Amino acid sequence: MSAVILSGKTYAQELKNQAKINLTELIRQTGVTPGLAVIIVGADPASQVYVRNKHRTCREMGINSQVISLPENTGKSALITAIKKLNEDVSVHGILLQLPLPKTLQPYESEILYNINPSKDVDGFHPVNVGKLSIGEKCMVPCTPLGCIKMLESAGIPIDGKNAVIIGRSNIVGKPMANLLLAKNATVTICHSHTQNLKDITRTADILIAAVGRPAFVTADMIKPGAAIIDVGINRIAPKKLVGDVDFTAVKEKAAFITPVPGGVGLLTIATLMQNTIEAARQQLL
Ligand code: NAD
Repeated sequence: MSAVILSGKTYAQELKNQAKINLTELIRQTGVTPGLAVIIVGADPASQVYVRNKHRTCREMGINSQVISLPENTGKSALITAIKKLNEDVSVHGILLQLPLPKTLQPYESEILYNINPSKDVDGFHPVNVGKLSIGEKCMVPCTPLGCIKMLESAGIPIDGKNAVIIGRSNIVGKPMANLLLAKNATVTICHSHTQNLKDITRTADILIAAVGRPAFVTADMIKPGAAIIDVGINRIAPKKLVGDVDFTAVKEKAAFITPVPGGVGLLTIATLMQNTIEAARQQLL
């Protein structure tokens, strides 16, 4: 039997509806409209599309949005100065630095991110938020893994006591995903490029999260029949063709639930960013 296809559009709309309710209530209580500032350095075309989408969604929701576009040759200290200015700006409640940074700034990525005020860190990448997530404290949670959890929960897929396997150990997806699943009482395994006998591990997964960045990496023989497959990967295989990390056509015949790419968890990332921005504003204002 073919898997249920989890539509990102439906679940993202649910999250945005909830965010809108929270936003209206916050404005009623405080009289303040939350503000998000996105900094983009350079002219990476994919990043420009992501930033435009974030800006547009903010405007649709009724969140103030500003985009700070800095030239490709911006130095580390100029970028940190721009971040510090936003830290001081009371109309800005969320700050997001669009990644990846240009090559010359990449060695300083952590150092630059550490300058974002943790309470405005709507991407959840500051070590204060990373640490809080790992010890199960309330914090700003990275948007993509948070979207995956929201989707699993909304779809009624049980997490408690289930085996969850994540392929990928990045700070942006894999590691926070593991902490979130652990907090929901899953038994979590993280696999990565040095993992041996990967297939033996992925076949134990009731929930399999693929965050590798390689097209058709997860094949049907790697999954347990009836598993829930969450495909985080975004791979451009032709100028207008995006695919995930999962061999969708074959895997959907064996899984119980599967997310498509495009149209899957990627759509929830912006919706969770809206929620995080409203929550950051609520914590700063109330
Ligand atoms: P990354 O390159 O930082 O991490 C990739 C991970 O895959 C690494 O931990 C690596 O160890 C692992 N890996 C590589 N080869 C492997 C192998 N042969 N076996 C097992 N593991 C292997 O990437 P990332 O930033 O975590 O992103 C992963 C994917 O998710 C990318 O396609 C990215 O575009 C996508 N992504 C999507 C969203 C979204 O909004 N949907 C957000 C962030 C990232």
